[in-house]
Amino acid sequence: SRKPIFAANWKMNKGASETEDFVKSFLSKTQGMNFTSEIVIAPPFVSLPKLADLLHTATAGQNAHAIQIAAQNCSEYDSGAYTGEVSVMMLREFFVHYVILGHSERRSIYGETDAKINAKIKKAREANLKPIFCIGETLAEREGGKLESVLRTQVTQGLKDISEKDLNEIVIAYEPVWAIGTGVTATSEQAQEAHAFVRSLIAEIYGPDAAAKIRIQYGGSVKPGNAAELMAQPDIDGALIGGAALEPQSFLDIIRNGS
Ligand code: 13P
Repeated sequence: SRKPIFAANWKMNKGASETEDFVKSFLSKTQGMNFTSEIVIAPPFVSLPKLADLLHTATAGQNAHAIQIAAQNCSEYDSGAYTGEVSVMMLREFFVHYVILGHSERRSIYGETDAKINAKIKKAREANLKPIFCIGETLAEREGGKLESVLRTQVTQGLKDISEKDLNEIVIAYEPVWAIGTGVTATSEQAQEAHAFVRSLIAEIYGPDAAAKIRIQYGGSVKPGNAAELMAQPDIDGALIGGAALEPQSFLDIIRNGS
């Protein structure tokens, strides 16, 4: 009874004009389709106004309204002297409903700690944004037998002092770092095992009801050809897709094969 959620993380790809090309093509391909899954697009910040125009104006078609908008990051502060940052209230002006937080690229390239990610999750919830909270281990951590301890730290620190009410508005994305952008997907068994462990951590902290409700997406080299097998796993509730979500047909095929 968890509604699967398929989110395109475009990373630093697609300005406004490419965003428009993608959305027009995607919408034309989906005419008359009824989606049973939630669909989300996370473009770069500067493309959010265009996406909002295309998807959430009065003239946008029925399927347009079915697509939710996500940001790829937000500030943990409200406003002020934070050069280069974007606040949650600014995102709200562009019909943004989700925000990706804790992505491994933010952690490893920009030094975001569990504490900072936790602060961002709290700020996002204050503005009623739904965090897509990313976690995942590196290859060295997995090979060193640290998979569970890494996930435990990321989950407990990232969700520190988050209420169960707020947790209900959070999506977790399990993205093994070694599978991101590498073409190497976790096997469905590896992914299912990690997802079941993450769900058990949520049960430990919040109890079985919250654990049964929370959606856990898989991310890392998801493609049309592997989506069905991954999504068939009992604890996998959708996907967070990078490279394969840059083409409308491929994103659509993942959604259809995985739903
Ligand atoms: P790829 O699908 O390109 O491996 O990226 C996964 C990812 O990081 C999504 O957030």
